[in-house]
Amino acid sequence: MPEKTVAVWIGERCIQCGLCVGVCPVAAIRLTERGIEIDVEKCTGCGICVKGCPVGALQLKKIVLEAKRDA
Ligand code: SF4
Ligand code: SF4
Repeated sequence: MPEKTVAVWIGERCIQCGLCVGVCPVAAIRLTERGIEIDVEKCTGCGICVKGCPVGALQLKKIVLEAKRDA
């Protein structure tokens, strides 16, 4: 199974400041009414948002990508 390192959001720490949305070089982060959403397809695991979050609400984590089904 393919693995990938991406940023994950820790909702209970987040203060909804929106800083991470602006620092992501590939625009993988969105602020929604449910909080931060990270597009794991776009995220490169660069860690810029993790360093930029003032309250430590983002962390890098290795995830297993679900196998894509051929159409
Ligand atoms: S780790 Fe990098 S690419 Fe992924 S969401 Fe954070 S800033 Fe964007
Ligand atoms: S930078 Fe951190 S505290 Fe601010 S919105 Fe993003 S995850 Fe939340």
